[in-house]
This record gives sequence, structure tokens and C-alpha cells, in this order.
Amino acid sequence: MKLEKSEELYKEAINLMPGGVSSPVRAIKPFPFYTAYAKGSKIVDVDGNEYIDYCMAYGPLILGHGSEVVKKAIAEQIEKGWLYGTPIELEVEYAKLITKLYKSIDMLRFVNTGSEATMAALRVARGYTKKDKIVKVEGSFHGAHDSVLVKAGSGATTHGIPNSAGIPKEFVKNTLQVPYNDLEALSILEKDEDIATLILEPVMGNSALILPEEDYLKEVRKITEENDVLLIFDEVITGFRLALGGAQEYYNVKPDLTTLGKIAGGGLPIGIFGGKKEIMERVAPSGDVYQAGTFSGNPLTLVAGYTTVRFLMENDVYSKINKTTEKIVEGIKDWIEDSNREWEVGSIASMFCMYFGKKPKNYNDALKLDKDKFIEFFWAMLNNGVFLPPSQYETCFVSYAHEKEDVEKTLEALKCVEL
Ligand SMILES: *Cc1c(COP(=O)(O)O)cnc(C)c1O
Repeated sequence: MKLEKSEELYKEAINLMPGGVSSPVRAIKPFPFYTAYAKGSKIVDVDGNEYIDYCMAYGPLILGHGSEVVKKAIAEQIEKGWLYGTPIELEVEYAKLITKLYKSIDMLRFVNTGSEATMAALRVARGYTKKDKIVKVEGSFHGAHDSVLVKAGSGATTHGIPNSAGIPKEFVKNTLQVPYNDLEALSILEKDEDIATLILEPVMGNSALILPEEDYLKEVRKITEENDVLLIFDEVITGFRLALGGAQEYYNVKPDLTTLGKIAGGGLPIGIFGGKKEIMERVAPSGDVYQAGTFSGNPLTLVAGYTTVRFLMENDVYSKINKTTEKIVEGIKDWIEDSNREWEVGSIASMFCMYFGKKPKNYNDALKLDKDKFIEFFWAMLNNGVFLPPSQYETCFVSYAHEKEDVEKTLEALKCVEL
């Protein structure tokens, strides 16, 4: 495999952008490949190498790259202009659709990123309860803003900076942490009167893939309710991924507030936060919690997101991508057994993750995984035409565009890997 052009570009980029990239997780060592184009399940780099893509832009592309239906919808919208600064009809339609699919959401706001959505959800939770503290789960990732960059997963953990510099101590003293899958740790909600909300990823997808233990989410709901603490489900990954109605449908648990993103924008930038009417009515201009954005609810994003969700509703997407994922996971299991390694693989719906070590139950477990071995594995797979998310702490995504052939090639590639 040749990566000459990518290497050259990276040499320039490193002097122009911190780490040479626009988002840390992309800074694959020694250098990332630069994409020329992508279609369906494949991504092609500037040196002409083609890979089967399981990164899928870290989750949004559930229909694969360059989906024809989404492309058509975007193209039609472009003819009508792409930014108005006024409300549009589709905003009402899309909001109606989401409130129908997410029973916990009566009212919502469209924003531009998942980070923005969690930032605003936390603010409205604090405004509504008139309390200052929040509780998050160790190793969860809710975007790159001040309240949540403490023991943060994703690129923050990959690059060894789970606690970001530049955030005042006085500020993060209001961010408390609990381990995932640990109900006893939630006694903190009883002891501390000043806790506004508990925010969590119902399925953790940013510290490797970590699934909730049986009834964990149901118990979390019960405990938060008992202690008058709002429950926020950060479904930026799991929304429209585990099911149309996200993890809350999958596990049948109703949070007070929900954040969505990634798939909800059909590949264009989006965030959504929503929940109970009486809480959401506190958002400006109907209430006193301020939130605003020039690009929020922009027509291109709305049309791409709406078209994607309609496609998910009208086609048998989930059974296909979940089956594809099962096949891959079975293949990986066989490979692990055949090679007599102490590795494991985990999956849910169309998300899967190979663990270089024991399947984690929480962030501490995830930190024990052999992340350097993972990087060796990553490069070996890339060399064999398979692009995995470039960190042990990320999760692989399967799309509607992944076909049997892709699975076969992926499992063939696996057989060529010697670690
Ligand atoms: C990706 C992600 C975010 C941040 O979304 P951006 O659009 O990257 O700002 C927030 N929460 C979770 C769970 C995520 O996976």
C-alpha cells in the first residue's frame, strides 16, 4: 500500500493545523490517509487505495457514503437556496416526526452539533432545576465543551487528555463522575442536594463499546426520579442507530431530556435537544435559558436528516445492517478462537468493537485494553483494505451500503492479519 500523497499532505498540514487535523481523533499515527472520495461502503484515498469503511464518519452515515436519496434531496434544496435565517416548513415536519419516534420528546430545538446539543441540554437542566451540579459517567463523551471534558472518552482519551486544560477548576467542580454500570455509585444523587442532572450515553460508544448491564438503565431512571434529578440520554450515537427511537426505545426507558445528532443530520452537521414540554419551554424565547445559532435548523441539514429518517422508516434498514453486523462479529469471534488470543468482541445492533483484552464494563476496564495492539491491528487491516475507526476507544459502524461481499472481504482481510 502506497500512501505518498497522504504523507506529503500531512507534512504540510501539521504546520497549518494543530496535529494536522480539524478534529483530534483523525490524527492517526504516523499520519492519516487523505480521502479523495467515498461511495457506498467504500472510501478511497488520494493515493488511490480503496477501503471498506467501518468508521462511517464516526456514526452519521447509516445509509453509507453518497446515498442517492439523500443526494437528490440535498440537490433539490440547493436550487431553492441553502440558508434563509427564517423558519421553514420542513422544520415543523421534522420536529413532528421526531416527537412521534421519541415518546420522551414533546418539544425540541435543532442545533448544529452534538456538542452544542449536550451543552444546551445541560444548561436547560440547570436552569429548570435551579441547581448547579451535573453528574456524568467516567469515559463518556458528550462533545468538546467545558462541563463535560472531565474523564472524557473519544479522542480525549485516545490522546491522553481526558481532563482538558483550559477549564477553570471552579467550573469543573460542578461536574461529578460516576462509573458506568455501577448503581451503588449513584448514591451520590441522594447525598448531594445540588445535582441538576445525570447525563449518560445509554450505550457507551466513546470508550470502546460498552453495553449496559441488565436493568441498569431502568434502575438509573428509577434512582434519578426518586432523587429529583433530571436524566439526560445522550443519544447522539444511539439515536436512529439502535432503533428508530434510539436506545430509549430499545431499552424502553424514558429520559427527561434527549440529545440527538450524527444520523439525525443525514451526514450534514446537526444536533438536537428535546424532552418534556415543561422543561423545554424554559428555552428562549419562550423561557429564560438562552440558546441561539445562525445555522440552526438550516435547510440543507434538515432535508438531509429528514430524508434519511424517512428512508429508515420506509425500508428494512435495521434488519439488514444488524444481520450484516452479526456476520462480521461471528467471523471475528472465529478468528479470535482460531488464533488463541485473549481478545473479545462486542456488538449491539449495527455497532461492534474488537477489544484487545477483556470486554469492558466501564471506563476503568476500557483503559486496561491494549490500545497499542489495536493500532497495530488497525494498520494491518488498513493494509488489507479495511478502514476501522483508528482507536481502541471508538466503535465500528455498519451501514445499509455494506453488502455480503464486504463482509467476506473483511473476514478475508482478518485472516491475513498476523499479530
Ligand atoms: C459525537 C458525539 C457527541 C458530539 O457530537 P458532535 O457533533 O461531534 O459535536 C456527543 N455525544 C456523543 C455520545 C457523541 O458520540
